[in-house]
Amino acid sequence: MKTTVLLLLIGLLPLPGFGQGDLLIYNVNIVNVTDGSLQKNRAVLIGEGKIKGIGDVKKLSRNVSKEQRINANGKYMIPGLWDMHVHLEGTQLVPDNEALLPVFLAYGITTVRDCASDLGRQVLVWRDEINKGQRIGPTIYTAGLKLEGKNSIWKGDLEIENEKELYQMLDKLDSMKVDFVKITENTLKGDLFLASVKAARARGYRVSGHVPYDLTIDELAAAGFTSIEHATYLLRLGTDEKTIKDGVIGGTLTKPDAESRYTSLFDQQTATANYKALGSRGMFVCPTLIGGRQLAYLDQTDHRGDVFLQYLTKRYVSNYQWRIDRMANETPAQSQQRKDRYQLLLKQMPLIHQAGITIIAGSDAAALNTYVYPAESLLDELEIFQQAGLTPLQILQSATINGTRYFGVEDKTGTVTTGKNADLVLLDQNPLTDVKALRAIYGVIAKGRYYDRQMLDAMLHQAHEKKVKLDEERR
Ligand SMILES: [Zn+2]
Repeated sequence: MKTTVLLLLIGLLPLPGFGQGDLLIYNVNIVNVTDGSLQKNRAVLIGEGKIKGIGDVKKLSRNVSKEQRINANGKYMIPGLWDMHVHLEGTQLVPDNEALLPVFLAYGITTVRDCASDLGRQVLVWRDEINKGQRIGPTIYTAGLKLEGKNSIWKGDLEIENEKELYQMLDKLDSMKVDFVKITENTLKGDLFLASVKAARARGYRVSGHVPYDLTIDELAAAGFTSIEHATYLLRLGTDEKTIKDGVIGGTLTKPDAESRYTSLFDQQTATANYKALGSRGMFVCPTLIGGRQLAYLDQTDHRGDVFLQYLTKRYVSNYQWRIDRMANETPAQSQQRKDRYQLLLKQMPLIHQAGITIIAGSDAAALNTYVYPAESLLDELEIFQQAGLTPLQILQSATINGTRYFGVEDKTGTVTTGKNADLVLLDQNPLTDVKALRAIYGVIAKGRYYDRQMLDAMLHQAHEKKVKLDEERR
């Protein structure tokens, strides 16, 4: 087994996993993430990357050799997790990010949505290699490069100043075959932002992004915006958003003025009513709470012992410093405001859910996002959801079927159902009781290939060795 693992990790074996032919996993408890029920002591037949059957072990084991049968010993099977907001970024961090791809699988994450970065073109290559079975990693949906205004702070974005440039950039995204469109607001003006949403929708893309100060969430929703990235923007719905927006456009309010008004004037009843209106329009929101928590509690947390640091190069982690420096001059009052805002946001989670807004779980893991570790931070995010009062079932949905609904692939993947993609995770404990169960993984099936605990550990070890090697080379 050891040699097999090493060969497949260095790419010498085209088909990793437990040999050829069908695979049978038996003595397993299947978690139904649609209704929260549990099917006990089932067998799951897997072949050609799909779930071929679910049922009684005796019936399903007929054509499966002994070596291809895996006793799951009463473990719990869930669909593979979706991290709906990551950035594989940094033109100086290509091998660093590449080494982390198998780590996502080791953490039970079989799909990621990459929300654009300066490595957009490289991510497209990785996406295609993974889809062809040439590389081990999660299924990737990517925005490639994001739309922005001229001279934005972001590296490697597609900067536009008028509609002509907008169409040119959309042509470019078409030719890159991106999976959705991401738009942010650093220097992009509201009217062109709105035109971008409409034009991308007209080409059939799902459109995600930030909310500009010179637009309201309502205007974005009406233009066909698919998902709001970062739940902090939803706090605007607790205020008279239009008046604040008009103040920004008219020049009577600065952006920081507007920002402080969104929290100081926040009214829960107004927010709850506005959430309902937004929910009825079919909006998705990717809260990404973990980043805010890491920053809000930076002063009280010693990150030096964090387990995940063994997979991140010194160069990768050096990117964390800019936010730490930027926060160093915060007053105690500002620091308290940050904590208060985070707590206010937590309280919104069940209300957002009840309003019918679909929550898609995402970490915003990225080299530029301080202590928001790839893969692991999704599990942190899900535990924050639990603290905030979402039920384990709602949380599992946010990290499985809600992602499939976002991309309209719910008939192909996202549940443990015959005919669907065999992207699955085996857990020691029942996650319907407590989502902390996602931390103890027994095995992972990605694109129909089974990785047992030993192989997952070997993949993690490999990522660590790569980190050590890269650090050495760069000294
Ligand atoms: Zn992001």
